[in-house]
Amino acid sequence: MKEIVLTGDRPTGKLHLGHLVGSLITRKEMQDTDKYEMYIFSADMQGLTDNAKNPAKIKEHVFEVIKDNLSIGINPEKVTIFVQSGVPELTELTTYYMNLVSLSRLKRNPTIKEEIKQRGFEESIPVGFLTYPISQAADITAFDASIVPVGEDQIPILEQVCEIVDTFNSIYGETLTRPKYIVPENKSSRRLPGTDGKAKMSKSAGNCIYLTDDTETVRKKIMGMYTDPNHIKIEDPGNTENNPVFIYLDAFCKDREKYEELKTHYEKGGLGDKVVKEYLFEVIEETLTPIREKRAYYDEHPEIVEKIVIEGTAKARKKASEVLKRVRKNIGVEYFSQNLHD
Ligand code: ATP
Ligand code: MG
Repeated sequence: MKEIVLTGDRPTGKLHLGHLVGSLITRKEMQDTDKYEMYIFSADMQGLTDNAKNPAKIKEHVFEVIKDNLSIGINPEKVTIFVQSGVPELTELTTYYMNLVSLSRLKRNPTIKEEIKQRGFEESIPVGFLTYPISQAADITAFDASIVPVGEDQIPILEQVCEIVDTFNSIYGETLTRPKYIVPENKSSRRLPGTDGKAKMSKSAGNCIYLTDDTETVRKKIMGMYTDPNHIKIEDPGNTENNPVFIYLDAFCKDREKYEELKTHYEKGGLGDKVVKEYLFEVIEETLTPIREKRAYYDEHPEIVEKIVIEGTAKARKKASEVLKRVRKNIGVEYFSQNLHD
């Protein structure tokens, strides 16, 4: 039997270069091996946990993030693509799992803590937001997924998912599959910084280069990027460590010799930011051009995208309902001689 891979994106905006290197490329590579059964979903319900007052934003992006996946080469013939709210089984699983996690454990999750701060939720945290790791446990276990490709920020969430799985299995008997996360090998790709130099390129922070940005926009964003603030004169030695321009080059540049050469030169002094940025622009354009071409096809054919998602969601629902049946049975939520649920 093939190992099952599950991964998703919150439709809180279009996907960006951070997603590409943090998770999308791994998905595509795994798809191309034909070794896995893969599910990819648009996490609209999770998106609503911190956007309850702005549902239009979620609605606008449900298909956008799916088109982003298709444009990087995800093949709907090989991968099941679905929308989270189209699989209500996930919500029932979440409810059962809620009883297995304490409030203090939820509040301790470092990613959640950071995201609460970022969103200014300190005073009043939506319950749904605080508990999204529980719903993520449902998303993953509903498909018996054993592999979840993610960016680094998701590691604490995946750890919490594993705790839920272990607690469930120890109380109700071996029922759920324990997932493993995989992060990219290249360190720069695990948490790509923003164009402003902030720790993470993030839809919510507005410091992104989007997969859909056109050439002119990409050029403007790259030319305006934060670099080493102490690299004032061209002759000054520069810092490449916390410099997003070099981190992007590390993540995207295929010509490793050239990358090392630029890095050494910049560190020594005598290489201007403008020259490095021009080169980064070339590298990013090379990455984005084929993605834009594929994207244009799906933008012109919304009916094809909708069909992919309708079929994928039906398939996902079937799989999730099998797991849910197992969960109900093992907890003992089965009281009648006939099945009332179907
Ligand atoms: P939001 O700000 O709304 O949370 P996001 O930009 O963090 O949006 P998500 O949809 O939450 O995007 O993340 C989808 C996947 O992409 C996750 O696996 C996440 O770890 C990964 N990811 C997101 N941003 C980055 C980044 N800057 N570098 C590497 N991986 C990333
Ligand atoms: Mg996120």
